[in-house]
Amino acid sequence: MIQIKHLSKQFTGPDGKVLRVLKDINADIHRGEVISIIGPSGTGKSTFLRALNLLDPPTGGEIIFDGENILARGYPVHKMRQKMGMVFQSFNLFPHKTVLENVMMAPCQLLHADPEKAREEGLALLRKVGLAEKADVYPASLSGGQKQRVAIARALAMKPEVILFDEPTSALDPTMVGEVLSVIRQLASEGLTMLIVTHEMKFAHDVSTRIFFMYDGYIHEDGTPQQIFEAPVHSATKAFVQRIRKKVFEIGGPDFDFLGMHSAINAFCYKYSISEKQETAQLLVDKMLDDVMAAHRPITVRITHSEQSGVTALDFMVEKMTATPLTDEQRNELAKLCQQVVEEPTKRGFRVKLVI
Ligand code: ADP
Ligand code: MG
Repeated sequence: MIQIKHLSKQFTGPDGKVLRVLKDINADIHRGEVISIIGPSGTGKSTFLRALNLLDPPTGGEIIFDGENILARGYPVHKMRQKMGMVFQSFNLFPHKTVLENVMMAPCQLLHADPEKAREEGLALLRKVGLAEKADVYPASLSGGQKQRVAIARALAMKPEVILFDEPTSALDPTMVGEVLSVIRQLASEGLTMLIVTHEMKFAHDVSTRIFFMYDGYIHEDGTPQQIFEAPVHSATKAFVQRIRKKVFEIGGPDFDFLGMHSAINAFCYKYSISEKQETAQLLVDKMLDDVMAAHRPITVRITHSEQSGVTALDFMVEKMTATPLTDEQRNELAKLCQQVVEEPTKRGFRVKLVI
């Protein structure tokens, strides 16, 4: 459906310095593919999507869409825009139009759709994303997750052949990520062609037919989710997919913001789709801080999660401590609550690690 050949994009700064963001991008995108684009920030993922739909035209290369070179002089850009929808991180809804008007607007103005028919189709799309009930309200009264679902309905209203998503969940509160991802998941199961820039690795793994790992201006590695996440070939891909997510809390004494830490642990579990571990994590943190290691301050608590292996752990570290603080009884009790209890010296002290 789309052939991308030697696509490049460079920006020239005010000082005349040239920044080559896309160096040589090559890809063939077939109908029905769901491609997640992953990679460190600043590697050109947004620039790639914006070049593809000509929001920020590329500086070199070719894009052949349905057999037509969309970069050719005189190619009608509006034709491509109708076939290629885009959903942004920041929703971009019109605040002075109702939800339904937002969805109907493009078909009415650009496709000259019959208003009654556009209304019916708009309502059907809102129903599809679970928001028919909100048809007549203004976007300001919606949550972030609801706004993004409206933005998806609006993109669908043009009946595009492909939709580009640029980090559709990264501006959302973690509790609202799931509702947006499940709408995208549903579209994937219906066979819509999609390119999705995302940091949600579990989602990318589960929903995609193919993954592009972008790095240094290239599609550095291209493969199935299994290849990219479980057997990456290049070292940069490996480093990226094997990276460990972590959140650290330095607890000096009783004035520490324990409520804030609990919320942060909940948010962490939501963010990395391990909500089922949240309750155990909180229980263990309370037990360790209020009971087992109550006498040890300052103490550093760290929650880590590997998206690749699925291993989540809580570390409790105390500087200059030389031996384990655990009694046999405490160790046995903790072992019942988690998968593994590790007690080990560190460079500067001692750590109790609980794998959950
Ligand atoms: P990503 O989406 O992967 O985080 P971007 O595509 O947003 O990365 O940006 C890649 C690089 O291009 C960054 O260094 C960014 O500063 C630069 N860049 C993006 N847009 C522009 C622009 N309009 N002008 C100049 N530099 C830009
Ligand atoms: Mg980006």
